[in-house]
Amino acid sequence: MYRLIQKAAEQHSLNREELIALLRNDEINRRLFETADEVRKQYVGDGIHLRGLIEFSNFCRNNCRYCGLRRDNFNIERYRIDEDTIFKLAEHAAVNMKLRTIVLQSGEDLHFSAEKLCRLIRRIKSLDVALTLSIGEKSFEEYRAYREAGADRFLLRIETTDKQLYLDHDPGMDWEQRVDCIRNLGRAGLEIGTGVLVGLPGQKTETYADDILFFKQINADMIGIGPFIPHPDTPLKTASGGTLTMALKVMALTRLLLPDINIPATTAMETLAENGQVMALKAGANVIMPNVTLTQYRKHYELYPGKSTTGYTPDESLKAVKEKIAALGRFVAEGYGFHRQKI
Ligand code: SAM
Ligand code: SF4
Repeated sequence: MYRLIQKAAEQHSLNREELIALLRNDEINRRLFETADEVRKQYVGDGIHLRGLIEFSNFCRNNCRYCGLRRDNFNIERYRIDEDTIFKLAEHAAVNMKLRTIVLQSGEDLHFSAEKLCRLIRRIKSLDVALTLSIGEKSFEEYRAYREAGADRFLLRIETTDKQLYLDHDPGMDWEQRVDCIRNLGRAGLEIGTGVLVGLPGQKTETYADDILFFKQINADMIGIGPFIPHPDTPLKTASGGTLTMALKVMALTRLLLPDINIPATTAMETLAENGQVMALKAGANVIMPNVTLTQYRKHYELYPGKSTTGYTPDESLKAVKEKIAALGRFVAEGYGFHRQKI
């Protein structure tokens, strides 16, 4: 097993069976995490990129069975932040907090037309920041329009590469279309961010092996891995949810196979354990996304309960993140944090 980890660290390649064997064996976890940490240091260094996350609307036309924002959840108060306020949040993040990337995230909210979004993108780009969007499935033309307006990256998780499971958990959605959308991001000139949930009912070790191979095949620039956390107002409320250990293993193996990409220590990891993000940063992650949404909105952007950033102001979120980074002996990276050297 240790030989396999070494091979992955040197050749950045494992086949499905090898991935499954490593995912199944928990005795190798410590070595796996340490090796992913070394590969991270070798390829992307000790700097941690901070991306300021603005959750600008919790309206969603979709009905993903795992998500608290699903359209059939009538227990949440829906909100949209107006364009000027979104810009002000971005300005605070860029000018006062010195963040070099802004991430605009929302449910699939048709209120924000391509025209409105492009106007907002242009305004935010005047702040000299990189801009990431995470707003769901759109046409190739829309992705192109966002790129032309100045957007740099886009996050669209495949959620799971098991087609049947995807259809079960994402009713009304289409797996092939999702893959097309992810490919279209790259064709439109945007950096491709994707990823999966870990711990959805029905996911197996084999599924995670396929997920990791998919990331490589799609030539991803960023991969976000989130443990699934059941939400009480969704059909999956009684599911047991994902474990931090499996999420970290999938993430560490992703670092070994795609050594120079950007990998966030996700909020869902921190929600499962108080030091979840620190553990992730020591097992291959090199990005954190401090939440810069106003406190009054955050409690309504509840994808899952106990989201660790709820209740903090943007400045408090940043302070907490910086403390974690300093305690690790790492530093906040300068620059926009693009994924440059594709191998
Ligand atoms: N609506 C866009 C989309 O789905 O791509 C962007 C926002 S969506 C809330 C961002 C991510 O939240 C999803 O890709 C999904 O993986 C994650 N998410 C949703 N429900 C979750 C849950 N219960 N536990 C953990 N992560 C969850
Ligand atoms: Fe909507 Fe995204 Fe939640 Fe699915 S995961 S319900 S698309 S916000």
